[in-house]
Amino acid sequence: MITIITPQGKQIEIVLASELCDPVDMGEHVRAYCHLHGSDHQRSLSITRMTGWGHCFNAACQATVLVAEWNRPAAQRLLHQYYQGLTSAAIPSYQPPHLPSSHRPFVVQPLLLPLPKAIPAWQQEELHILQALDEQMRWALAHSQRAQLYLRGRGIPLQTALDAGVGYLPSALLNRPEMRTKREVVRRWVDRMLFPLNSPFGRGYIGRSLWHWQPGMNETIHKALLERPGSPRRWIKTNPAGWFGVELEQLPDTIMLVEGAFDRLTLLAAGLPASQIVALVGTALQVEWLPSQVNTVVLALDGDDGGKEASSRLADQLVQAGLRVRVCPSGQNTLGKDWNELWQHLGQQSLAPVFEVLSESRSA
Ligand SMILES: [Zn+2]
Repeated sequence: MITIITPQGKQIEIVLASELCDPVDMGEHVRAYCHLHGSDHQRSLSITRMTGWGHCFNAACQATVLVAEWNRPAAQRLLHQYYQGLTSAAIPSYQPPHLPSSHRPFVVQPLLLPLPKAIPAWQQEELHILQALDEQMRWALAHSQRAQLYLRGRGIPLQTALDAGVGYLPSALLNRPEMRTKREVVRRWVDRMLFPLNSPFGRGYIGRSLWHWQPGMNETIHKALLERPGSPRRWIKTNPAGWFGVELEQLPDTIMLVEGAFDRLTLLAAGLPASQIVALVGTALQVEWLPSQVNTVVLALDGDDGGKEASSRLADQLVQAGLRVRVCPSGQNTLGKDWNELWQHLGQQSLAPVFEVLSESRSA
């Protein structure tokens, strides 16, 4: 067991499941004798299994506990914050004098991330080929009129896309003689715009098909075309996939989550810092992926029912992990279901809610 005090002054006992005294499973809750105040005639300690958080109902004790194994992200975050606080302010003499002040003498063992499932050989090969083509695909975007017209149609300046590492795979690139043995493996990526993804397991890609897109064709019509039987899938991903954003370690203390790759490009085009905006692109939110400096997450998901449902689910998950959460009002209406559509119709003013919630998060 370890007792920590949060920056807000709250005392939390982080315990291991094995420390619980004679626990009894009551469904959603586990009841145990409280080893904190030493009761052995009433199971006054009640812990919610799903969240790991618990409370002692003994009036004289009232302890707040967190069972580390049942909520690793929260335990990890609290321990990390606590030791960081100790070394930076409360006990400066703990700093060995020869180390720079940013160095943390306490090393908190990172909890192990669950290992990804074994990746089939063809997917590994696919990823390797795409990675090797990365520079050429970015060059292709910078030189493809077709891809640039598509971006323009969505209101995204070319430079914004290039700065974010976006590329394009034209058939001409695959038809080069040196691609002869690799062509078939990556054929499904042809005529796609590729967005680099980050995860703890390395770099990946998500690709948006431009199949049969013509200059001037609007997004709704193109989407309907891609949904017809026999059409290529609108989006495909490598394995591992990840989030479209900066490398995880470079995330600042406050980040904003959006759903789609074009939503992120939209916010970057509007002038928001690239490091702050992360697009989930259909990859589940893994709280464990967030480095410990991230303490506030702003959710700016789509305004449709799916987006609202996801938003409240993610908010719960993040709060349980000890993060501060703000939800950005979608501002979305009949003119658009996501930030990119709104941006195309209304321009900068459509993003007012995003700027507002971010500046509030900073001043809070
Ligand atoms: Zn107690």
